[in-house]
Amino acid sequence: MTTPFASARLREHARALGFNLIGVTPAAPSPHLAAYFRWLDLGQHAELGYMARPDRQARRRDLNVILPGVRSLVMVGLDYHTLRLPPALLDDPARGRIAAYAWGQDYHAVMLPRLQALGAWLQAASGSPARPRAYVDTGPLLERSHAQQAGLGFIGKNTMLINPRRGSDFFLGELLTELVFDDYDQPAPASLCGTCTRCLTACPTGALPQPYVLDARRCISYLTIEQRGWIERELRPLLGNWVFGCDLCQVVCPWQRFAIQSQETGFFPLSAARAAPPLAHLLALSQEAFRREFAGTPLERAGRDQLVRNASLAAANGGQADCVPLLENLLADASPIVRGHAAYALGRLAGPAASARLEAGREREGEAAARADMEATLRELRGAWLGEK
Ligand code: SF4
Ligand code: SF4
Repeated sequence: MTTPFASARLREHARALGFNLIGVTPAAPSPHLAAYFRWLDLGQHAELGYMARPDRQARRRDLNVILPGVRSLVMVGLDYHTLRLPPALLDDPARGRIAAYAWGQDYHAVMLPRLQALGAWLQAASGSPARPRAYVDTGPLLERSHAQQAGLGFIGKNTMLINPRRGSDFFLGELLTELVFDDYDQPAPASLCGTCTRCLTACPTGALPQPYVLDARRCISYLTIEQRGWIERELRPLLGNWVFGCDLCQVVCPWQRFAIQSQETGFFPLSAARAAPPLAHLLALSQEAFRREFAGTPLERAGRDQLVRNASLAAANGGQADCVPLLENLLADASPIVRGHAAYALGRLAGPAASARLEAGREREGEAAARADMEATLRELRGAWLGEK
């Protein structure tokens, strides 16, 4: 029989590595599996096809499929809360807003090597023949659910993991190990939301149709980062000035008043403009300038074309007429996604006055989806013009 490893030693070493939350739980199936399968059945995972892949479903059902013989999960959290920036800056319609977790360095680069170091230490300290498996939010398991089981926090109606002493501004990671521990953590309460519904009310797109359910198809975070192509026209006006992610449902949460400032200097924005860059700056970004400015940050995941696409919509939503010349330039951009969304933004900002430019853009357009989107924009303009007559 294996001798249980002292979880107090693990905790001490994890804290020395800089982790703010540590919990250990047996590698049992997640209690949220039924809700996860319901979510997939309803298609609320949108185009996150990997979430529904049969091999992924099998791993979520049984952690042994990920690591045969797994006995325990070590769950860790790392604070990313940095500054409370003034709403006047974040809500400025001339600026594009970035979710707080993405203001600094890419957290994977900060957290994964540390988690791997914790795994290597655990293997050496326990004399185990196998190295624990480390994941930082890419793992094929229901991370928040296991973190709740490990006592790190409860799952709120906004579907985030919330720690009653620090809110929800922390990243999660985990080790899967064949080791057993002498002391497992008690699960956190299922929820401490009570009668509060602030996050459901604050969500601008109705992406939280009911408590504890996120419809990714409508979530700004998904739309601005994961959705690679066209954003549905009916959703475009609802995106406000968000250009990368969204964290409104966290910002309004009363538990956020307990957020603890991160000790990781890399998570702080280099300047306030990094949290809310001027839209005119984003609309003028070349591929090269994007790489220079955003390499090593979470924004790399979206890429330049998506960021410019999102900035075009933000300019339209904020009525940024000063951006019209930049949007006109983007009608000749190399990316059809950018050309189409820039045309849409031009239509909204300049109205029928933009018709001639848009007609010319549509005539030049060689990509079918971009052409169709420009035609929809022109139809809307004609409708608006007739309505005014
Ligand atoms: Fe709604 Fe934004 Fe939260 Fe998504 S991230 S559920 S869009 S408030
Ligand atoms: Fe729960 Fe209210 Fe926070 Fe939403 S805003 S997660 S309902 S406490």
